[in-house]
Amino acid sequence: SHLLVGLTGGIGSGKTRVSDMFAKLGVSVIDADILARDLVAPGMPALRAIEEKFGKHILDNSGMLNRRELREKVFSDPEQKHWLDNLLHPLIRQELVKQGKEAPSEYAILAVPLLVENQLNKLVDRTLVVDAEPQQQLKRVINRDDVSEEHVQSIISHQASRTERLAIADDVIDNNGELSQLQPQVQKLHEKYLKLAKISVK
Ligand code: ATP
Repeated sequence: SHLLVGLTGGIGSGKTRVSDMFAKLGVSVIDADILARDLVAPGMPALRAIEEKFGKHILDNSGMLNRRELREKVFSDPEQKHWLDNLLHPLIRQELVKQGKEAPSEYAILAVPLLVENQLNKLVDRTLVVDAEPQQQLKRVINRDDVSEEHVQSIISHQASRTERLAIADDVIDNNGELSQLQPQVQKLHEKYLKLAKISVK
């Protein structure tokens, strides 16, 4: 693709709903979470580096990364968290752009939950923010997952704020209303991005 659009938003803002709609329109969607998981699959160099750093017990019996163990290790140790981010973030950035550029559609959506937090807006041509009020995020996540209000609230408070996200947005999808209000907004942006993609062909 000649145009890379970064899609982001807070937990439960509706990113998945929106990216599914773009995918239905034939747009390639590259998911940073899936890509990050693939980078530490058995046999991948990054997994070997993690094993060397943390020891064999960071893998489960089948040789897969024990994510919970790793999360606990880096949660209590900023230095190790830093080491891990330094390993994975450049690989994720590199792979996101590579897959985005190789994508067959006129433009590609890079779905990156922590785009603002990790300043990945620099990687993309445009940033699209799915916006929802914290009250809506809270309600929807509690409805979807079996989690407490406090748990979701804590995640929201550790993520970028609504204001911070909107400040770097080129485009915004308002998801404070009904689900039926998403499709027309996606359609309109799709047409805009197709036009922009044509212009950006060199
Ligand atoms: P996460 O960051 O947790 O992955 P997300 O940003 O991908 O979340 P979705 O999974 O798309 O968000 O939406 C969160 C939940 O809220 C889902 O169950 C979804 O069906 C529901 N939802 C999204 N938008 C609306 C809406 N406008 N009205 C009602 N429910 C909605």
